[in-house]
Amino acid sequence: MAINNSYEYINENSIHEDLLCSICTDPFEDPVSANQCGHVFCRKCITDTFCNTPRCPTCRHDLVLEDFHPVTLRPFLNQLNQLLVKCKSCSQINIQRGNFQDHMANCEKVILLCPAAHLKCDWKGQRHEMQDHVTICSLIKFQPAIDELNTVIKKQSEQIHCLYTILEKISSNHKKVCEESYMGTEVYCDVCTRKLAFGELKHRLHYCPQTDICSNCIKQHFP
Ligand SMILES: [Zn+2]
Ligand SMILES: [Zn+2]
Ligand SMILES: [Zn+2]
Ligand SMILES: [Zn+2]
Ligand SMILES: [Zn+2]
Ligand SMILES: [Zn+2]
Repeated sequence: MAINNSYEYINENSIHEDLLCSICTDPFEDPVSANQCGHVFCRKCITDTFCNTPRCPTCRHDLVLEDFHPVTLRPFLNQLNQLLVKCKSCSQINIQRGNFQDHMANCEKVILLCPAAHLKCDWKGQRHEMQDHVTICSLIKFQPAIDELNTVIKKQSEQIHCLYTILEKISSNHKKVCEESYMGTEVYCDVCTRKLAFGELKHRLHYCPQTDICSNCIKQHFP
C-alpha cells in the first residue's frame, strides 16, 4: 500500500484542451459522460459537484448522477493513457500515465505502509526497507491468527443475531399461547391457595410454567 502515489504532468500547457476536465482543469481521471449532453468530466469531479447542483456544469442540463457512464471511446482513453507524467516520489520522467500503477509497484522511492497497517502498525518506509521491517513486525506475524479470529467472530455474531431473531419469535408466540390458555380459568395460589386475581396472572406467566403463586407470596418468598 503506497501513500504518496502521485505524479505530475509533463508539459501540462501543451495538453490538448479536449483532454482537460472543466471542473479541475487537469486531464480527465476516470472520465464519465451523460448521453443527454455528452459533456465529459472526471468521475470524482462530477460526483463532488452534484452534491451541490444536480446539473451538467457546462450546459446546465438537468441530470442525475446515474446518467453518467464511463467513457469507453478507445482513442480518447488511449490519448489519456499516453500522457507523460513524472513520478513525484523518484522524479523519474516520461512515464506514460497508463503505466503509472506499474511504476508504483516497483518504484524504489515511494513510501509504503506496513502490510499490517490495518492492525495499527504505523511503520512507513521505502521498498528496500520493507524486507527488514517484515521480519521484525510482530503484527504481521499475528495477522493470519487475527484474520482467522475475525472470521470466527463475524460468523458467531451472525449466528447470535439469527438465534436472537428466532428466540424473539418463539417468545412472542409462547406468550400468546400462554395468555390464551388462561382466559376464563380459575387459578389458585400453590402456596396459600388464595384465588388469583386476573391482574396477578402475569406472575404466572412470569414464572411459567412451573407454579401459580400469588403476588403476596412472591413478595414474601422471592423478594
Ligand atoms: Zn476533473
Ligand atoms: Zn452538458
Ligand atoms: Zn517512482
Ligand atoms: Zn508492521
Ligand atoms: Zn408459558
Ligand atoms: Zn399466595
